Amino acid sequence: MPELPEVETVVRSLREPLVGRCVESVWYDWAKVVKTPSAEQFTARLQGQTFHAITRRAKYIVCQMDQDLFAVHLKMTGRLYVSETDHPGDRWVHLRVRLDNGLHLCFSDARRFGRVYLINDMYEIAPNLGPEPLEADFTADILRERLNGRHRQIKALLLDQSFVAGVGNIYADESLYRAQIHPLRAADSLNADEIIRLHESIRHTLELGINHEGASINWYRKPDGERGESQDYFNAYGKEGQPCTRCGQPIVKIRVAQRGTHYCPNCQPEK
Ligand SMILES: [Zn+2]
Repeated sequence: MPELPEVETVVRSLREPLVGRCVESVWYDWAKVVKTPSAEQFTARLQGQTFHAITRRAKYIVCQMDQDLFAVHLKMTGRLYVSETDHPGDRWVHLRVRLDNGLHLCFSDARRFGRVYLINDMYEIAPNLGPEPLEADFTADILRERLNGRHRQIKALLLDQSFVAGVGNIYADESLYRAQIHPLRAADSLNADEIIRLHESIRHTLELGINHEGASINWYRKPDGERGESQDYFNAYGKEGQPCTRCGQPIVKIRVAQRGTHYCPNCQPEK
């Protein structure tokens, strides 16, 4: 699933083609792609509205329109891109927005888990989102406060969008590897140094992911169709059996919170 760096990459590349453009019409072939309101209401309301800003909240792409927020969640296989034609040769396009310059914003989704929304406030669809990890107000002190009293395994907690927004399986593994923290550690067992390391690691890992324009391991592609390169810089995720870049011991894979979890047993001892 696209995580914060992948969604942020999509957001950044859609700003230039979308901001200032007005919606002429909306086409869809599957009404359920619109989660809220109804597909008919979505179409009627979006027509005539102009894109003013493209931002991200957690893993949502959020377009500020005249009256509404037009939000998109890519889920597993969703893609959002601008095409010059209404037949982009992509059989998974389920929603298309025709812009006033003749271009088309296409939402494509092979597995059909992704959804679009037209809302007034993100709170309507995601009332419990945690802090944005790359914002200045996400400090090590805030992380320490949020970990306090939480007994859950740290990996499971990092995946929880109400704990911290935008981190998923890949960047959770990479953050814990960099911080040298075992994924099964109880969240409230981390000491002050480990919390500072984890805070730095989450931000570093996500920023690196953005700098490399996301990870194209399976479905994710940038809006221009090119692959991101974040996967070329992983140290733990998908590296089971390969030598740890820090100590040379093989990376192992276990399951945590139903997710494949990669770590170095030597550098990330369970204690
Ligand atoms: Zn190691």
